[in-house]
Amino acid sequence: MRKNIVAGNWKMNKTLEEGLTLAKEVNESLKGADLKCDVILGTPFIHLASVVGVVDADKIAVSAQNCADKEAGAYTGEVSAAMVKSTGASYVILGHSERRAYYHETPEILKTKVQLALKNGLKVIFCIGEVLEERENNIYFDVVKSQIVDSLFDLSGEEFSNIVLAYEPVWAIGTGKTATPAQAQEMHAFIRKTVADKYGKEIAENTTILYGGSANPGNAKELFANPDVDGGLIGGASLKPADFKAVIDAFN
Ligand code: PEP
Repeated sequence: MRKNIVAGNWKMNKTLEEGLTLAKEVNESLKGADLKCDVILGTPFIHLASVVGVVDADKIAVSAQNCADKEAGAYTGEVSAAMVKSTGASYVILGHSERRAYYHETPEILKTKVQLALKNGLKVIFCIGEVLEERENNIYFDVVKSQIVDSLFDLSGEEFSNIVLAYEPVWAIGTGKTATPAQAQEMHAFIRKTVADKYGKEIAENTTILYGGSANPGNAKELFANPDVDGGLIGGASLKPADFKAVIDAFN
């Protein structure tokens, strides 16, 4: 059975002190809760070890938002997958559209990052999604399929079972414009079929596919009700503990 997951992506927000306050508030809000999903906090690198230290590990996992495409060495400013793992984090978000667009991360670079992350014992939340023009030109299925094939389909079936996919239509990220539940379901079903065609039905059925893009307490229930939507990657709403908790509660 695949897991439902609600993962927060804090992006480049919160000082260390503010981040710890947020993590503690989220942790507090989940005390005694009968959770129907796994919860992940995707924090900046500098927060990782401290956030791991203040949350209950049986309820909340911690994720980085990136890692280097090199193992170690003279790469000033970079943070390796091994370093992320050493903080106690268990996930890394890779392929976010902001990394692809602003930091020119190509499918090849992402493939290397994914392989290093898995080699170092991290699970990967791998983001895919089309820009508005690609949706309007009706090539969004091809775009998303290529993103998956180009960075992930060299993995073995066993390796692939450590991948969580996050469908994030770029036109919906931070815009307040959410994909409709039908649009999300249509793409998620396509993604699951793409995985099934490569790795077989069992692995595809066990793959968690998250939706991301202006998900919030007002729309999460309707989005998560779809058979192929297994939770959300949450940006803006993950910075407000009450909103994040309400999104988690959409599974109840
Ligand atoms: C994201 O960037 O991963 C995201 C989903 O952001 P938001 O929820 O703010 O649209």
